[in-house]
Amino acid sequence: MSETVTIVGAGLAGSLMAIFLAHRGYSVTLLEKRPDMRLESLHAGRSINLALANRGLRPLRAVGLEDRVREQLVTMRGRMVHDEQGSTQLQPYGQHPWEVIYSISRPGLNALLLDEAQAAGVDLRFCKACLQVDLDGGVLAFADEDDSTTIDLPLRRCIAADGAGSILREALMKRTGFNHSVEWLEHSYKELCIPAKSDGGYRIDTNALHIWPRGGYMLIALPNLDGSFTVTLFLPNEGDPGFDSLDTPDHVRSFFHTRFPDAAALIPDLEDAFFANPTGPLGTVRSAPWHLGDQLCLLGDAAHAVVPFHGQGMNAAFEDCLEMDTCLEATEGDWARSFELFFERRKPNADAIADMAIENYAEMRASVIDPRFLLRKQLAFELERRQPDRLVPRYSMVMFRDDIAYAAAQSRGRIQLEIMERAMKGKQRLEEIDIDAVEREVLETLPPI
Ligand code: FAD
Repeated sequence: MSETVTIVGAGLAGSLMAIFLAHRGYSVTLLEKRPDMRLESLHAGRSINLALANRGLRPLRAVGLEDRVREQLVTMRGRMVHDEQGSTQLQPYGQHPWEVIYSISRPGLNALLLDEAQAAGVDLRFCKACLQVDLDGGVLAFADEDDSTTIDLPLRRCIAADGAGSILREALMKRTGFNHSVEWLEHSYKELCIPAKSDGGYRIDTNALHIWPRGGYMLIALPNLDGSFTVTLFLPNEGDPGFDSLDTPDHVRSFFHTRFPDAAALIPDLEDAFFANPTGPLGTVRSAPWHLGDQLCLLGDAAHAVVPFHGQGMNAAFEDCLEMDTCLEATEGDWARSFELFFERRKPNADAIADMAIENYAEMRASVIDPRFLLRKQLAFELERRQPDRLVPRYSMVMFRDDIAYAAAQSRGRIQLEIMERAMKGKQRLEEIDIDAVEREVLETLPPI
């Protein structure tokens, strides 16, 4: 088979999709607007990391990359919650040893995927920015930044993996019958760094995702392999505190030293890094449909960017790649039908994780210190111990159970929440709840998973 496929965007999703398609025998061209990241020093001292969960690992396993990816992982067993006095408390994510998530370097993972795509025979072309999409004429125009010329490619069997600001989505959504929306959060983010100790060791607990929840905003930190932590501040754009009011080094210092004193003590270049690093917006992209005949299909953030509070955007994008591969298998390479099937299967799941990611912001920045949240978690764990085939906490379904689709996790999660909220009414402690009665309700209401 030597059918050609074009993928726009060599980020996480585009690179993995290219590997799947090359393994199927297609002749794949992968075009990326940026230079080859493998030739640059990886972000020159600024490491960005992501939480990888089982859902994301499964597609990597399917292309034979799991072992190499595992070499890059740092295990996170739970949330380490830091209060304003500097005390910490570990809240395990699950109740089984395998219920963990992993921190991985974004550039490290992207470079590994590019290496593998290259080894699989993918034609990688960097500094090629897609500038124009002519859906009627069936042409994609790229600027060749190497020699300032333009390149036209036929728009056929094209996968748009060009991220949340996708130019291909913009073009597609101008057509009648296509719709998209970008819902901006009134909060943004900024990345900082806790460096490693001089001997390369970690300054805070290695195997946890650290959170400093402060109600309306929060700081988090994920470990890197080199002993450092990537720290992210999520804060309203406006207000006090807000990004607009943190406008001088004094304001930044005083804000951090008052609200996150233990973290502030670990970030030596706090004020400099705060003003040097960009403030990033956070938004949810919804679009439908994602495909046009056998010409074009959106994938990953280009189709459905989500806010990062469930740590699932990349995981969902990787699941997309596996699903697209499954659709091509099911339709014996009928591209138009594969694109259609892919959209039908993934859209409900993309919508579900978009909603759950927004909800999880409130959980991370506020609920983790709320006694009712902690009671509900205890109750959910107890019910899971009793009825593991019927009740799995929603967080666990999303993060650990790649056999449960996002949409199913969301709908089961709603029913579970109702049952638990009813049982918890007027109760402060687990011992006050009639667990046998709740268990009976679970058996009556929830079918086996
Ligand atoms: P991208 O990674 O954005 O890749 C798109 C690629 O297309 C880029 O290389 C870009 O240069 C290229 N491109 C863009 N336009 C063009 C063009 N016109 N022509 C050619 N190339 C183009 N997800 C998780 O699973 N876990 C996490 O912990 C997590 N944390 C996050 C934290 C933050 C602060 C943010 C913002 C996101 C986080 N995400 C996380 C989400 C994750 O980053 C995305 O879901 C993921 O990167 C999507 O991959 P993608 O390949 O679809 O898009």
